[in-house]
Amino acid sequence: MEDRQLSGEFKWSMLGDLNLGREHLGAEMPVLVYRLFQYTMRAVLAREYGTEEMIRLFRKSGELAGEEFAENILDLTLSREAFFAELQEKLKELQIGILRFEEFDEENGHAVLTVGEDLDCSGLPVSGECVCNYDEGFISGILGKYFKRPYEAVEVDCWARGDRVCRFEANKR
Ligand SMILES: [Zn+2]
Repeated sequence: MEDRQLSGEFKWSMLGDLNLGREHLGAEMPVLVYRLFQYTMRAVLAREYGTEEMIRLFRKSGELAGEEFAENILDLTLSREAFFAELQEKLKELQIGILRFEEFDEENGHAVLTVGEDLDCSGLPVSGECVCNYDEGFISGILGKYFKRPYEAVEVDCWARGDRVCRFEANKR
């Protein structure tokens, strides 16, 4: 018998069978719902643990998501260019955002990438802060899985800071 206790561990299979469970409503739902979930979660975590800890937890969750996404959705055996192209395609297909690699340094692995129409922040009121901490982790997790060494992505431009795209700088840790 399967262990029915919630263990706190993530498994891709936890995402369930959407064809079975959402026969009439389908696999999609409005961005509004996703943002409502994300920004209420941010608010409660910040209230309970402080802003810094909330950001750390969002980055960590994003990183786990990125690692799992890379393993379950992406082909990690592709050449670097083909992998970047596949990633770009998947993020568009899943309506996460429009990804562009602006820079990639073969020698030290430094990458600069932008995400347009970002799921998390595009259209947000300008608060002066970079808010895409989940994306920072997500990108870190994906690059870390592909390059087989820890990566750290930091958002330097964000819609919420008044920019038109989110821009991330990623480096090997
Ligand atoms: Zn952003």
